[in-house]
Amino acid sequence: IIFEQTLISVHVSCSARWIQTFGKVFNILEPDTDLSLIPVHEDDKELLEDFQKNVHHNLHESKLFVELRLRDTSGLYHWYRIEASNLISSQGKPIYIIGIITDIDKQKLLELRLRTQATRDSATGMHNKRATEQAISRFLGMHNNIGPDVYAMFMIDFDNFKSINDRFGHAVGDKAIYQMAQIIRRNFRSTDIVGRVGGDEFLVFCTEPMPMEKIRERATVLVHQLHLQCGNHDAEDTPLTASVGIACNPNDGQNFTDLYKHADMATYEAKRRGRNQCVFYAELTVTEQQNARDSLLAEERK
Ligand code: GH3
Ligand code: MG
Repeated sequence: IIFEQTLISVHVSCSARWIQTFGKVFNILEPDTDLSLIPVHEDDKELLEDFQKNVHHNLHESKLFVELRLRDTSGLYHWYRIEASNLISSQGKPIYIIGIITDIDKQKLLELRLRTQATRDSATGMHNKRATEQAISRFLGMHNNIGPDVYAMFMIDFDNFKSINDRFGHAVGDKAIYQMAQIIRRNFRSTDIVGRVGGDEFLVFCTEPMPMEKIRERATVLVHQLHLQCGNHDAEDTPLTASVGIACNPNDGQNFTDLYKHADMATYEAKRRGRNQCVFYAELTVTEQQNARDSLLAEERK
């Protein structure tokens, strides 16, 4: 779709294709117009407003573009790329714009699907390790918690999971991971950050500050609910449990790296104390901290 607009009289001309696509002519480039006249998706309104301002005020870049969703005559939103080139008067003012609108729906949906695949764990649909770390780091960068309530990070690692695979096979192990992931998801709010960060390791970061008693209560319920009977559902079924290590912001760390390291140390201690339980990093003795640090370092070196 090709269109043009004179900025002095705000007159818009467009190709017949515009009418076929959108049913009516609207002024997509004019800032401060009533946005309800433009069939732009609610989530893309801000993008459009920025684009409109740029077209009128950015004199350094003569070619500008934006990608957003517009509702066409089918009644559905599709992705379009709007490009605009402005012509500038001898006084240096933009006076005329030539624009082109291209349907990019197919490319955009493919791009979004690839991006989702790159950030999601395909078995559980949760964030993968990189996306989990990014989401938590972004959250911590934007929220400066000074207490007394704290943000909790839970590291959840299944106990003796290798033996489930060894005894019942990988397919049963996979099913157990999926079941456990559902239980973890159900125990937290949709706004909390939940990710699968390793084979049998999950990470949850609660985005609402909570008192320590509430965090302990949540961890205890979680450990209890993660106690499953796993196998082929016969007499041989084996209990599958999980150990949970908890580190809290701001007390146990100000950034992702410190919180993760401390939650990992607390998980190590939960395993050492016999598994199927939760341990807070804040409650480790100096000796327990030292042992956990040494063992995790040794594991890393292996
Ligand atoms: P620990 O109690 O110390 O955590 O012992 P563990 O046996 O759970 O050992 P660890 O956490 O170190 O190893 C996790 C094992 O989980 C390794 C691998 O055999 C298994 N595993 C990892 N990812 C998958 C998966 O996607 N499917 C299945 N079936 N098994 C997995
Ligand atoms: Mg494990």
